[in-house]
Amino acid sequence: MAPITKECDYLVIGGGSGGLASARRASGMYGAKTIAIENNRLGGTCVNVGCVPKKVTWNAATIKETIKEAKAYGFHVEETAPFDWTYFKRKRDAYVKRLNGIYDKNLKNDKVEWIHGTASFKDTNTVKVVLNEDSSEVEIKAKNILIAVGGHPTKSDIPGAELGIDSDGFFDIETQPKKVAIVGAGYIAIEIAGMFHHLGTETHLFIRHDKFLRTFDPLIQDKLVAEYERQGIIIHKNSSQSKLEDIGNGLKRVHYEDSNGKGTLDVDVLMWGIGRSPELEKLNLDVTGVKTDKKGHIEVDDYQNTNVPNIYALGDVCNKGYELTPVAIAAGRRLSDRLFGNKPDAKLDYDTIPSVVFAHPEAGSIGLTEPEAREKYGAENIKVYKSEFTAMYYAMMEPEDKGPTAYKIVCAGKEEKVVGLHILGLGSGEILQGFGVAVKNGATKADFDRCVAIHPTSAEELVTMK
Ligand code: FAD
Ligand code: NDP
Repeated sequence: MAPITKECDYLVIGGGSGGLASARRASGMYGAKTIAIENNRLGGTCVNVGCVPKKVTWNAATIKETIKEAKAYGFHVEETAPFDWTYFKRKRDAYVKRLNGIYDKNLKNDKVEWIHGTASFKDTNTVKVVLNEDSSEVEIKAKNILIAVGGHPTKSDIPGAELGIDSDGFFDIETQPKKVAIVGAGYIAIEIAGMFHHLGTETHLFIRHDKFLRTFDPLIQDKLVAEYERQGIIIHKNSSQSKLEDIGNGLKRVHYEDSNGKGTLDVDVLMWGIGRSPELEKLNLDVTGVKTDKKGHIEVDDYQNTNVPNIYALGDVCNKGYELTPVAIAAGRRLSDRLFGNKPDAKLDYDTIPSVVFAHPEAGSIGLTEPEAREKYGAENIKVYKSEFTAMYYAMMEPEDKGPTAYKIVCAGKEEKVVGLHILGLGSGEILQGFGVAVKNGATKADFDRCVAIHPTSAEELVTMK
């Protein structure tokens, strides 16, 4: 049977953060005939196996932390109050399902047709979609095609690696593991290690060097590694794994080497958190001639154009180097503004983008690290302001129970323009958003100081630093 054929102005492959934002703007705001293809659940990584279920789990871990700390404030609560993982997971899943429904409704409101199936290119203007429902085919001809297919967790290639899970699998865990190993040193490994630990699971973190979050400012690396160790997360530094095996009773044995030599560890779960790779396997991209870089990311210019006219890419699949939901969303909206909204110069400014690692405590960063700033402006043109202190929240606690707060402002030139801001401590995620506006707008240290402090807060330190 000949496949059903359709035509549209804008075909969006991938119903995640970037694709849906772009599709809705193109259709809802500018009336472009838009079709979106998604082969999994609407909302993509962020909604289903990323930011959303992660933050909810982080909230749970933070509540557990607070219960532990509450006694310092005179609450005689049971520190060991049990956490019902299964109950929590069920509620979290239901929340994500509600969001899937809201995304569906939003697409209808904006008159975006969405098709549940897997897309692959036939040529530069034609995409074949195999429907999830019955494997039948739809062929779509489009004037413009956006590739917003995101990525998937990178796999390890050691023997038995497949016995481990990845961050997608983390969200499928039904009952709380007693003991876990997490391999990796980026956002995902550090966030999930923190959550497991605070929820009461014995947590081993395997990192290849002696620090984690190595793309962050050294202040964040040093303080957070020390803090995770203080809290009781067991960090295996300078480590590698040679084998993972199933030893029965649901246990996995990881064979490793770290600073202390060779060893084995038996765990309920081993999770790989070693980066993400672009999701291009099913796309048959070769027929289009769209170029990718060495790591497989699609090469785009500042306007999200690929090397092939009328094919665009954005979000995790492109080579802009930011795998963040708001980046994908902003790039998607700007692209539709440009293509359909008569705004020929619309593009996302990738300079100075804030992000926060939802560790315990949170670590936030915008702009250049101190070493990057020294490299860019020359050491003699850099001034660094630093403050480490104990947040008032911890005033009621014993010395061994107090968490760190550490802030750094990196300034460049005579005018002391703030080119980097790095903060670790309670509430950093909320604090950084506001300060991000100032940094993005070119604030100087004097501008920071001109803003009267809000007392008593931790953030006031950022406008009073000497
Ligand atoms: P995605 O959201 O991944 O969407 C791509 C979609 O394309 C997917 O739904 C996929 O099913 C679909 N698709 C792929 N191939 C095809 C095909 N051939 N046909 C049809 N459909 C296809 N970012 C933050 O900003 N803050 C956070 O706190 C945060 N936490 C995270 C936590 C975790 C555990 C993870 C994994 C990521 C996190 N991120 C976070 C990153 C964020 O989720 C991604 O940057 C974002 O989702 C990327 O959006 P995207 O549109 O590029 O791709
Ligand atoms: P990242 O790229 O952040 O970090 C992965 C790190 O793991 C590498 O930098 C490397 O660090 C280490 N690594 C790589 N290979 C190995 C290996 N074989 N063994 C041990 N360690 C290894 O990737 P993530 O998977 O953590 O996250 C992907 C992206 O998702 C992030 O970059 C981020 O953009 C986004 N994200 C954002 C979040 C947020 O905004 N809060 C939360 C979660 C994800 P090293 O070189 O030091 O060994």
